[in-house]
Amino acid sequence: GKVLVSGASGFIAAWVVRSLLEAGFSVRGTVRSENKTVYLKKEFASYGDAFELVVVPDIAAEGAFDEAVRGVDAVAHTASPFRLDAVDPDELILPAIRGTVGMLKSVLKHGSGVKRVVITGSCASVIHADPEPKTFSEVDWNEQSPKEVEEMGRETPGMTKYFASKTLAERAAWNFMKEYKSQMNWDLVVINPPFVFGPTIHDVTTPSMLNTSTSHFFTMLTDPSTSASSPLATFRSGAAWIDVRDLGTAHVRAFQNEEAGGERIIVTEGSYVWQNFLDEAPEVSPKGLRYQKGISGCDIEPPVVHHVQYDTRKAAKLLGIPVKSGYRSIGETVRDTVADWEARGWV
Ligand code: NDP
Repeated sequence: GKVLVSGASGFIAAWVVRSLLEAGFSVRGTVRSENKTVYLKKEFASYGDAFELVVVPDIAAEGAFDEAVRGVDAVAHTASPFRLDAVDPDELILPAIRGTVGMLKSVLKHGSGVKRVVITGSCASVIHADPEPKTFSEVDWNEQSPKEVEEMGRETPGMTKYFASKTLAERAAWNFMKEYKSQMNWDLVVINPPFVFGPTIHDVTTPSMLNTSTSHFFTMLTDPSTSASSPLATFRSGAAWIDVRDLGTAHVRAFQNEEAGGERIIVTEGSYVWQNFLDEAPEVSPKGLRYQKGISGCDIEPPVVHHVQYDTRKAAKLLGIPVKSGYRSIGETVRDTVADWEARGWV
């Protein structure tokens, strides 16, 4: 079958595209402009006719995907802004919601061949700050971030604006599915990953072009001035993560297993504090750069209390990814990521 992948130029999307092609699917990717097609066409040239691209300039525009969904069998909607520097929360919230609902509308109207839509959601729409350590599962919803955005507007912390955008977009998707249920012969799966790290295969030629999560990963490992106060530095409480290659596989499995339909599914290797990655990183890069081996505020004595943990039994059951052991480890991911930087001559 042929899968439409929105935002094919992104960090995660590029791996989703590769995973789908490797699994034998054909892929039609969407990018925002003609010049973004050049790199991707080269990257996936070996798959021949199985890979094609179309330009969708603005995912938030009415009917943006009307043409793109024609003739495909399934859709992976990954395009959504993940930035921490938005001033007006609507810079994130509007494209997130309109892109998501717009895709579903286009499928409803023009995607007569579509059997399933898989949305790249996020654990951002699952978690909320809790003073006690908590294990979250698919029944949990982040009610907090949208409320904070309503109360604080532009003053809301950047990460909270992003969390709100993902929560509101996922809510809107499920509401849409409920509302138009009687007119549909297709279903929805939402894959909810926490922070996504790993090597890059999309168009990045300098570290400054990295997406938000991998850019932070790069800084945490290579910049000695990185401190506990940076926004993604989840020190005391820890956070959770998944390797981007495993997330690519998760998307493929979401298309392959009939029973995944109608489900939101959390995928993660588990929780981490940065020290876990630092411990497994090599000592020195070819250029002589020393990878960080301790960041102030990060050198926590065990046992670390992970405030945010996830129950991944649903992913095990529906996507066939065994809890913990089915995912790449911290050591494998940090070594492969560093090797990627070294091959690019960045470090
Ligand atoms: P990227 O920034 O690499 O990719 C984002 C993609 O969305 C790009 O293709 C980008 O297009 C497109 N996009 C962003 N804003 C707009 C817009 N306003 N209009 C049209 N297209 C837009 O980030 P990721 O790969 O990390 O993110 C992909 C998805 O994964 C997102 O839905 C994100 O929320 C989700 N996610 C990411 C996590 C992470 O840690 N990285 C964690 C959990 C979920 P362009 O290339 O042209 O900018």
